[in-house]
Amino acid sequence: MFEPQTLTILGATGSIGLNTLAVATQHPERFQLYAVTAHSNVTAMEQICRQHKPRIAVMADQQAAADLKVRIADTSVQVLSGQQALADVAAAADMTMAAIVGAAGLMPTMAAVTAGKRVLLANKEALVMSGQLFMNAVVEHGAILLPIDSEHNAIFQCLPVAAQLALGEQSLASAGISKIILTGSGGPFRELPVAELAHQSPQAACAHPNWSMGQKISVDSATMLNKGLEYIEARWLFNCQQDELDVLLHPQSIIHSMVRYTDGSVLAQMGEPDMRTPIAYGLSYPDRIVSGVNALDFEQVGALTFCKPDPARYPCLQLAQDACWQGQWATTSLNAANEIAVAAFLNHRIQFTAIADVCADVVGRIEAQELNSFDAILSVDHQARHYAEEIVEKYAVC
Ligand code: NAD
Ligand code: MG
Repeated sequence: MFEPQTLTILGATGSIGLNTLAVATQHPERFQLYAVTAHSNVTAMEQICRQHKPRIAVMADQQAAADLKVRIADTSVQVLSGQQALADVAAAADMTMAAIVGAAGLMPTMAAVTAGKRVLLANKEALVMSGQLFMNAVVEHGAILLPIDSEHNAIFQCLPVAAQLALGEQSLASAGISKIILTGSGGPFRELPVAELAHQSPQAACAHPNWSMGQKISVDSATMLNKGLEYIEARWLFNCQQDELDVLLHPQSIIHSMVRYTDGSVLAQMGEPDMRTPIAYGLSYPDRIVSGVNALDFEQVGALTFCKPDPARYPCLQLAQDACWQGQWATTSLNAANEIAVAAFLNHRIQFTAIADVCADVVGRIEAQELNSFDAILSVDHQARHYAEEIVEKYAVC
């Protein structure tokens, strides 16, 4: 028998974090919870600490850490706070689930990468912001990168083992692959008249028909910028050329993505739309473990349908696909602009359709440039956020 692997969960109070806890704790002989982290939700963190007894709990926010310390003084959990503590716990465990939302996850995730650990990547924004630098660091430090985003996890499962082991390095053509096909449901507004999009509320945008997720990714799914970020994520993870990557709408969310081979075969991974499946796969790879997800019932599923996304309905998808091939500066600034725009939409400051306007304006204002260091990336991220805040004012409804 093997020793249990230690596990850190970055973003433990979120949707992916809680699903990771739900899977890992079914297998105490395999996984031992080392650390959990969160931004500021003390109540959720207290509950996790009492129920799962990690060695360390980190709150990014200092006041939240002080509050948590008082609340769980009767336990043996050590409470830490701040950016350095996030990086330290990410680097210390055998495996780290990177499930912080947004750019805030970049440096803690990189700490796990540079420590050469097994990194379960849910935080797609980290890869969108830093693409080549991120993938280079994985190789340089011998980290094992496992995609958790359901589409990328599906693609990974459909790759030949040699390509899995040389993730991001091998050319797809040399593996006999002609196309990576990312599927997406089209979100809650797939059938709404385009003229009504502007008036949709945050609540409606967050009501995804198939998946239950955090607020930011739910809005990204409604604009399909989520699929755009995933397109960029796939480019780096699988070393795709522009003509090797496609997006297809598949409203039932049963096929999670596909790989087309040169011999005419298409391999697809299917399952219930439930993140516990890719999480379990990432935790146990190359083994398979019970995740708690129900078996797929094909009679219940019925028909599987597919169509092209409509560019008039989803301008954010095109913006991301263009940025992907423009350069790192474009995807870094698009990601930053989107985070500001989505927050403004969730706070009722701008309309749903203004998210795309803000993103396009910001990318248009950032100068094309080479980004060869994490400092350069963070500087463009910062500048893009500043522009986005200004541009949000232009589109503000009140
Ligand atoms: P969420 O909003 O539910 O949770 C986010 C977590 O990050 C929370 O624990 C929060 O405390 C933490 N966090 C937020 N801001 C932080 C900060 N500044 N510093 C430190 N911690 C911070 O988000 P989620 O839906 O779980 O998504 C997490 C990541 O996984 C995102 O990048 C998302 O795109 C990706 N993802 C999510 C799903 C899903 O089904 N939810 C699917 C695929 C990919
Ligand atoms: Mg996804």
